[in-house]
Amino acid sequence: MISVEEALDRILARVAPLGDERVELPQALHRVLFEPVYASRDIPPWPNSSMDGYALASVDTREASGDRPVRLTVAGSVPAGKVAERPLHRSEAFRIFTGAPLPEGADAVIPQEDVRREGDTVLVARPLRPGDFVRPRGEDMRAGDLLLDRGRVVGPPEVGVLATVGRRQVRVVRRPVVGILSTGDEVVDLGGVIGPGQIPNSNTYALMAQVTEAGGEPVNLGVARDRLEDIEEHLRWGLGCDLLLSSAGVSVGDHDFVKAALERLGAEQHLWLVNMRPGKPITFATIPSTSKGSVPVWGLPGNPVSAMVTFELFVRPALRRIAGHTRLQRPTIRARAAAPIANPGSRRGYLRVSLSREGHEHLARLTGDQGSGILRSMVAADGLAVVPGDTTVPAGAELDVIVLRDF
Ligand code: AMP
Ligand code: MG
Repeated sequence: MISVEEALDRILARVAPLGDERVELPQALHRVLFEPVYASRDIPPWPNSSMDGYALASVDTREASGDRPVRLTVAGSVPAGKVAERPLHRSEAFRIFTGAPLPEGADAVIPQEDVRREGDTVLVARPLRPGDFVRPRGEDMRAGDLLLDRGRVVGPPEVGVLATVGRRQVRVVRRPVVGILSTGDEVVDLGGVIGPGQIPNSNTYALMAQVTEAGGEPVNLGVARDRLEDIEEHLRWGLGCDLLLSSAGVSVGDHDFVKAALERLGAEQHLWLVNMRPGKPITFATIPSTSKGSVPVWGLPGNPVSAMVTFELFVRPALRRIAGHTRLQRPTIRARAAAPIANPGSRRGYLRVSLSREGHEHLARLTGDQGSGILRSMVAADGLAVVPGDTTVPAGAELDVIVLRDF
């Protein structure tokens, strides 16, 4: 039996980022840039007003005060999207609006609420400094600046920057296509009738959702019966995918054929038993492929919670690496046990907890019974508390929690 860390190391050593594709800008969200992005021009391209007000030459206001306001003639108007028709002369002001370029000869703006307008003139009752209420040319970016590195994850601000530099399309790392197979004679797929001894297929759909959330593109490979040939055939269908996930049939029971099917496909198996609960039996293998070199395959446990937790620990980081990410792990926080959290088994526990905030602290509370078939304990979970074997964390003590979602 190997540790969780050792298992993940063995997996990550065998996966690498995919090549690139070109996507329309709105589709680039959450993708990883395959190219660096540079500024094509200065932004803003010219000094412009940050307020609705009056553009003026600051020298004209040097003597201005409340007692002796300076009177300037309003000689023009510059709305956003237009440029002044002529330069500003001494003792003149131009009406100006937010975002409009400063007229030549002006170096400051006074907000409209700070002046008194009298006919064609304005009274300015305080001195302005050059640059007041002016956004200088290039304050955001200068032509040639490196704005976004290759490998950067595109979030909303990156989308804004890409639009600013005129990128309708962006080169990003291709999204991994993930084939998902369920195995088991008792497993009935969506739409089927659950007969005696049978159970509904939840793993395929929970795993598809996890894949999508992690940035992959799931492909449903259906349900294989507990027969060597059937599992082998289903896996073979999936060899065009970038990676494969199968669930159940991975233990040592008389009806567990996933490992044997992998062997028949010439796979090299890199791990099997991992020191954790839920989910001890898990296999990771690489199947040789003429077109792709090799296809990584995970044989996940069948119990719905075990499948989801082992996905979190062993598939998600690898999937993210394949999708080009460098931050592979979920955030971990320190939380206080709201009530005792017991891990009675000898294996390291990944226990489902809900999380809440109390002042500056986080509180973790078990979501209830931790059986690996209790999918609803996952529904209630915000995170996985990591508890060493044979350990009870007393109420009020701190522990590590892997955060699975916003709480
Ligand atoms: P196994 O690993 O084949 O021994 O399966 C372990 C448990 O997971 C059994 O109780 C199965 O019925 C259950 N199981 C297997 N596959 C699925 C699935 N696709 N959806 C829900 N439960 C499953
Ligand atoms: Mg089975």
